[in-house]
Order: sequence, then C-alpha cells, then structure tokens
Amino acid sequence: MPKITEYEPIVGPNTIEELRLLAGKLQGKIIQNVNSTAVGGGVAEILNHMVPLLQELGVDARWDFIKGGESFFNATKKFHNALHGKPEEITPHMFETFMETSQRNIDEVKMYGDVMLIHDPQPIALVKKKDSMPGSKWIWRCHIDVSTPNKQVWDFLASFIHQYDGAVFSAPGFSQPLPIRQFLISPSIDPLSDKNKDLPQEAIDAVLEKYHITNDKPIITQVSRFDYLKDPIGVIEAYRLVKKRINCQLIIAGGTATDDPESTRVFGETREAAGNDPDIHILPVPSGSDLEINALQRASTVIVQKSLREGFGLTVTEALWKAKPIVASSTGGIPLQVKHKYSGLLCHSISGAAFAIKQLLNSPEYAKRLGENGREHVRQNFLLTRHLKDYMLLFLSMYHPEDIIYL
Ligand code: UDP
Repeated sequence: MPKITEYEPIVGPNTIEELRLLAGKLQGKIIQNVNSTAVGGGVAEILNHMVPLLQELGVDARWDFIKGGESFFNATKKFHNALHGKPEEITPHMFETFMETSQRNIDEVKMYGDVMLIHDPQPIALVKKKDSMPGSKWIWRCHIDVSTPNKQVWDFLASFIHQYDGAVFSAPGFSQPLPIRQFLISPSIDPLSDKNKDLPQEAIDAVLEKYHITNDKPIITQVSRFDYLKDPIGVIEAYRLVKKRINCQLIIAGGTATDDPESTRVFGETREAAGNDPDIHILPVPSGSDLEINALQRASTVIVQKSLREGFGLTVTEALWKAKPIVASSTGGIPLQVKHKYSGLLCHSISGAAFAIKQLLNSPEYAKRLGENGREHVRQNFLLTRHLKDYMLLFLSMYHPEDIIYL
C-alpha cells in the first residue's frame, strides 16, 4: 500500500498537511465501516484504499462486513435496481428475508465504532443497534442514485435512514428530502493503486498478449461488472454500428461481485450477443485483477461506459485519470465527470454512443485533448486525498452539530 507522502508529488504538500491536521483531531475515535462485500464494485474498491490510509494517518478506522445468503442478496439486488428506478417486482417475502438476515447480522456483527459508517442498503438495518451504543454516531453512506426510487423500497429503507445522525450522497441530484443532516461527498480513485498507477508499455502489452488481443486496430473497451444496468449488450450493438465504418475491436471486461447473483446470467447473455466475432473479447476477469484492468484501460483507444443507470461511475474516473477519451451515458455521476465535448462525450442511446465513438476514432487530436482535460478534472476533484479530507470533516462534524462545515 502506498504511503501518504507518496501522494505529495501528485496533490502538493498542503493537501497532505491538511490531512494530518484533521487526523489529529480524530484521536481516540474508532471509525467502523460496514458493508456487504470485500471485493467487487465501487464501494469495496474505495474502502480497500481508504481504510489503510486513514490508519496510517493515525485514525482508528476499521472495516467489517455483514453476511447474507443467496435469497438475501437476491432481495437486495432487486432493491438496488428498484432504487435506481428500474421496474422490479418487489414482494413482501423479500422484505421478510431482508429483516431476517438483518436481525442475524445485528446479533452477530461486532459493533464497536464511535462513528458507524454504514454503506448502502444491505447493512442499513444495523442502526437498530444504535440505542444500545450510547454516544455512537451513525452515518448512512449511500453510494447510489436514489432520486427516482421505487416508493415501496424507499419507504421501507427510509424507516431506517431516519434513525441515523446523517446521510451522505455522492452527487447533489442523488438524494431525497430527509429529516436528518445530509452531506455531499463525491467518491474518488487512488492514483497510486494497481488499478491506476502508471504502467510500462511492456506490462500493457503482456496483458493484451495474455488475452490474445493484438493492437493492430483501435480498441474500444468497457470495464464493468456484468450487470444489466451497465448495458453490455448495448455496447456490443454500438460497436457493430461503428464496425460498419471503422475496423476496430471491442473488449468488455468484468467480474462478478459476491453480492450480485445476476451477473452469471448477464455474462452468458453478453457472450451470446457477441456471437463468433473474433474482434469482440468478452473477458471474465477475477476480482483482484487490478493490474490487468489498468492495462486494458491503458491499451484502449476509446473507453465506453454505456450504463443505463449509474452510481458515481468509478470506471469513468479511472479512464479519465488515464487521459483516455471516453463515451459515457449521461446518467448518475457520469455528467459530473464528463463535461460534454470538454472531458469526453456524453451519449443517450446506442446510436448516439456509436456516433461519438466514430467521432473520437476519426479525430485522434480531439480525442487526446478530451482525455487530457479529463485527467486534470480528476486530479482536481476525484482523487483519494480529497475524499479522505471530506470524510474526516464529516466525522468531526458529528461532534459539532451546531457548526456548519462546508464539505
Ligand atoms: N471493477 C473491477 N473488476 C471488474 C469490474 C469492475 O475491478 O471486473 C472495478 C472498476 O475498475 C471500478 C469498480 O470496480 O473501480 C466499479 O465501480 P463503478 O462505480 O464503476 O460501478 P459499480 O460496480 O460500483 O456499480
């Protein structure tokens, strides 16, 4: 894991000094994160890098997980989709399953934090433990866009959210009116992680070779979990429209998250949609393949994120940090990152995505400029150091509810 001083050349000494100062003010407080998976998806990605750095700064940050079986994660997956506004049939049985598993976790997960930072809906009911932990501060960290939720699911979750001391959302448009304090904290990427650090060309070439991909024609790539909301089949259709005019190849790389039972099916359907086209590479990458994902992103000519709905969209941040031209749907946190025609191109449909990809492939200078602008935008707004600062201010603000702290 990189040391905090290693970030200095990227973000400057003042930023690091500020982090040390804030960490000093959190002495004696335990910050306990709880979520539902150690690997797969953006939440695990962030915690894997943030927790060790907070610890190095002297903050007693911990990370624990809830446990659940297949029916629990089936239910929470449906909740997740429904919160994003996707039509889903939600049954009373799902709420019962959710409560049964939640109760088991309330009994079994050790909860000891001065500040409890609970990530996303899966562990939300742990807050029932709050009354037995006097003085503890409870924060619900929502990583998804709940601006147009299924009302039934939202009302159910709201009964828990109201018991928290505060809620954090990733973008101004993601939240809902709530009777508790709300905070805005954008996610971030770690520029020194295996996923994002600079790589020598040989390392990139080695990964292409491993997957039998030659770079003799432009590479279009989408990296994502195999999830309907990431629209991998839409990506294939867009590629086919591009391919009519420009000889190119497509990589769809992704793994499965342990809390997502749907992904195997989506992976199979994506494979089927790819047919026998030798220029389509559907790559199942196991979790922990960060260097490979990094290399695939760096090997790409254009990166696509054609999500139908999105949380913040860390894959977009990662692509921009690598100065890659990107075509991404205008959904969730993506427009915060991709300013249309400045740091990438936004799209609203399959044909729109294809049009934008063609434009970038046909105008390498323009594509390069967009990528460079994107990298600078990420440096200023979406790196881990800014995120650490926001979180520490958030924890401190729990002890100073009367002070207004602008995050
Ligand atoms: N990711 C990964 N392997 C995969 C698919 C995704 O490591 O097979 C990473 C990806 O690089 C990014 C995160 O998981 O860091 C996905 O975060 P994002 O916000 O894009 O989407 P989410 O999965 O949280 O919906």
